[in-house]
Amino acid sequence: MSRALICAGNWKMNKNPAEAMAFADELSKACTADEAKSLVLFPPALCISSLTGSLATKSIRLGGQNCHWQPSGAYTGENSAEVLKSMGVTHCLVGHSERRQYFSETNEMMARKVKLLQSLDLMPVLCIGETLEERESGETKQVLERQLHVGLSESVDGKGLWLAYEPVWAIGTGKVATPEQVAEIHLFIRAWLKQNKPEFAASPILYGGSVKPENAKGLASIQDVDGFLVGGASLEVSSFLGILRASVG
Ligand code: PEP
Repeated sequence: MSRALICAGNWKMNKNPAEAMAFADELSKACTADEAKSLVLFPPALCISSLTGSLATKSIRLGGQNCHWQPSGAYTGENSAEVLKSMGVTHCLVGHSERRQYFSETNEMMARKVKLLQSLDLMPVLCIGETLEERESGETKQVLERQLHVGLSESVDGKGLWLAYEPVWAIGTGKVATPEQVAEIHLFIRAWLKQNKPEFAASPILYGGSVKPENAKGLASIQDVDGFLVGGASLEVSSFLGILRASVG
């Protein structure tokens, strides 16, 4: 039986407002109303206001790529979750590996961001994943456990949560985790949630890391893969929608 999968597109620091609008027009025309329900776009914050109109016609949801853990204040250059919400954003990435790697974001910061987003009724998409070095030294599950344990240490009961398992070595590299690796880790995350955070046990767990239309079907058939967080392939309507169609087809 086919299930509704999530297809989330992380544009990273790509596209300007005009390009974003052209993408949104093309996407809204190309997808059906049913497909639109599965899509969430995470554009750069500077493009969000140019996207709300055309995406709203099809109810395609919008997410922020990052936010600060305080709703407002003296944090020059940061994005406010409250402001994102006022712009029509419903989701926000937390702890993408590029934030951890290039901006030294810690699991403790993730915990505070998850708390703020949940208290604002925004959906945190907590990204977790191990580096190649950590995998090769057999530390994958310990690393993930710590990211989950600390990242969810301030979570708010009764609120929503999405998780994204993104092995760092598979992001933007063209190297996809094998179906066995993905199955093992998604099962591990589900079991961890059931045991430690039962209120979030049914949360969607997305896989991210070089997902393309060609590999989406196989990955989507894995138990506990509830959708994808897509970087590079979300920049073109054909590949972004191609992933959704391949995964449910
Ligand atoms: C990402 O940015 O979260 C990602 C998974 O990127 P890519 O699909 O390009 O590997």
